[in-house]
Amino acid sequence: MSPSRTWAEIDLSAIHHNVLELKRRANGSRLMAVVKADAYGHGAVPVAKAALEAGAESLAVVTVEEGREIREAGVSAPILVFTDLSPEKLPLAVSLGLAVTAHSIESAKRISEHSDEISAHLKVNTGMNRWGVAPSEVGEAKKILGDRLAGIYTHFASADSDDKEATEAQIWAFDGVLAAHSFGGALVHAANSAATLWHPGSRYDLVRTGVAVYGLHPAGGDADSEDLRPAMSLKSYVADVRRLAAGEGVSYGLTFRAGEDMFAATVPVGYAEGYRRALSGKSEAIVRGRRRRLLGRVTMDASVFAADEEVSVGDEVVLLGRQGGERVSAEELGFRAGTINYEITTGVNPRRVERSFLDVR
Ligand SMILES: *Cc1c(COP(=O)(O)O)cnc(C)c1O
Repeated sequence: MSPSRTWAEIDLSAIHHNVLELKRRANGSRLMAVVKADAYGHGAVPVAKAALEAGAESLAVVTVEEGREIREAGVSAPILVFTDLSPEKLPLAVSLGLAVTAHSIESAKRISEHSDEISAHLKVNTGMNRWGVAPSEVGEAKKILGDRLAGIYTHFASADSDDKEATEAQIWAFDGVLAAHSFGGALVHAANSAATLWHPGSRYDLVRTGVAVYGLHPAGGDADSEDLRPAMSLKSYVADVRRLAAGEGVSYGLTFRAGEDMFAATVPVGYAEGYRRALSGKSEAIVRGRRRRLLGRVTMDASVFAADEEVSVGDEVVLLGRQGGERVSAEELGFRAGTINYEITTGVNPRRVERSFLDVR
């Protein structure tokens, strides 16, 4: 690929590997690949297809439009929409054959009044306190949904935490709901990536894995330690090299000043690409197999990195990923930017950053 700017490489073999690894860890439970937010920035359609090929049985999205994009690409696997849908969105969900979520008694009524043909998963709040009916409302919601009920689920607030107590309390509350009612053939699910890896009691009929499918560590740690392979690399090239004399500054605000004479390389990546401004002065990229410090502020369209006489215009710059023996992970960028790996990949802007997909090898 001859770049004009910055591009993202998405390694579909990594997706394939991660799905197999997660299925192994889920120990017999089915796997729902969560491909919301354009597959956390990786590209929903190719990722969805690769995940299904690797053995995922279903997909999850957050908006009907996300579901439509995948259906229109010819994917017939079950797709669950996580959010509560307005009455205007329900007809499209039905025509696309998307399963919807009932979040409240109101939403269960809205769904049931809309159609007999729709499948709904009932969400139960067991402690996250964001969405879902209270355990005491489950009986009523179940009655309203009737034959439309295809699943029952909850979501964990802190399955990524070393402190396992809060998650165990949520599992206990969910088990209480399951014991108090019969749900026929409805699919029971709870686990996100973190719970799939670290809370064996949470796996039920299927696990809903997002971040780990992309090879990212759910708690910001080292993905290698869980045998996950990061799928996204973010690459650019050296567009300009210049000499800085001692005392000269770089980029807006001149927040970096050269301590001695040095080289600087300008790279066409900025916060419009999703290379976050919070990385200013804190990040590193790999050029010619070596880590190079980011000098001063990230601007909208460009960033400047330390260089040396070896660095030339046209050299590949790895902002996220591997080159030579070096690696910059999304966990590292998240840490340096004061955020999480999820936000790093999801923030890569597809209007600026072309994606190239490496097929399963
Ligand atoms: C996003 C999401 C997931 C996936 O979470 P990960 O931490 O990315 O595995 C699972 N379930 C629900 C309801 C979600 O919104």
